Amino acid sequence: MGNFTDYRLPLEAFQSQRTPFYYYNLQLLHDTLEGINRLTTDVPYRVHYALKANSNPHLLAIIAQAGLGADLVSGGELKAALAAGFAPERMAYAGVGKTDWEIRLALEHGVGCFNVESMPEMEVIGQLAQEQGCTASIAIRVNPDIDAHTHRYITTGTADNKFGIAIEQLPHVVERALTMPGVRLRGLHFHIGSQLTDMKPYVMLCDTVNRLQDYYEARGVRFELINVGGGLGVDYNEPDAHPIADFDSYFGVFKRHLRLRPGQELHFELGRSVVAQCGSLITRVIYVKSGRNKRFAIVDAGMTDLLRPALYEARHLVQNLSSTALACDTYDVVGPVCESSDVFAHDCTLPLTQRGDLIALRSAGAYGESMASTYNLRSLPGTLF
Ligand SMILES: *Cc1c(COP(=O)(O)O)cnc(C)c1O
Repeated sequence: MGNFTDYRLPLEAFQSQRTPFYYYNLQLLHDTLEGINRLTTDVPYRVHYALKANSNPHLLAIIAQAGLGADLVSGGELKAALAAGFAPERMAYAGVGKTDWEIRLALEHGVGCFNVESMPEMEVIGQLAQEQGCTASIAIRVNPDIDAHTHRYITTGTADNKFGIAIEQLPHVVERALTMPGVRLRGLHFHIGSQLTDMKPYVMLCDTVNRLQDYYEARGVRFELINVGGGLGVDYNEPDAHPIADFDSYFGVFKRHLRLRPGQELHFELGRSVVAQCGSLITRVIYVKSGRNKRFAIVDAGMTDLLRPALYEARHLVQNLSSTALACDTYDVVGPVCESSDVFAHDCTLPLTQRGDLIALRSAGAYGESMASTYNLRSLPGTLF
């Protein structure tokens, strides 16, 4: 997308840093946000950033400044979004297990939309809103039963999944929402999964939305907004060839296939595609160890810094930034944490690697820092911008 820009990693700046740390390329983040804004200006599209992908305050402030709304899944994220300068009316609050204090806090701040995932949740939101003397704006999260063919842990839109309300239960829930005190039904919400690079599931989603809209229009129910969630994938194999996600194709699908009604807004909740490529986890090789059949590069970053490989077998491109060797060898790149799943790469070809080398785990801006933990009483990773 756009002109070729060099987003090279600044090795010089890394040498003096304590590892491991996340490096964020803010130019790439800016260019990504500009790409999103350019494609959504002359259409009633509102993009919300899913904070759970990365809630680093520095990045949040930049994303809020660019004019995106916020997609939240907890009271903590609500507080972080407010602190970063996101407007409450541009916030959507999702999640299957919103607690009473979280709902109250969201009502207090006038969050733009609760994405409601069940009937009992809707009853509680309506009740708490009445107690607070206000009305909660809601969208009903529909489970469209679309298989996005992504990893079983990141597919969310199939029938056996905990998220949303099944289509056959929808008429009942919509009817209740329309008559219930304390809530105002603004629209329908969907989210079919994550790391989708094939646009077909989104075309199927558009068809489902069109059918539901026709159904409700025929019954005199009109929605102010349709929220199609997030999930656009990034290129984990070749981050330098595709530093910016394919927003052209993504928004193009909705422009071509989704029939918006006059005055209606289309909402998006993008997380990964906004921040994944601007972040790299930078780590140092502590030891190179030769096993019976394998060579291990043991690095000072572990699953506590970047959980995705251990959690769902995700693979990040591994680069040795400092080796000048022309010869290569294969290594298992592993962390120091006492878990067998603490492995970043198997049989990875790298230039000859030695103790002290700087390693980059690329495309780590999403679901990296935000999932970091102190397991094994390790320190949280640092940051460099
Ligand atoms: C996680 C999530 C998102 C963001 O997903 P990405 O794959 O990071 O774009 C959007 N909406 C909901 C409801 C989510 O749970």
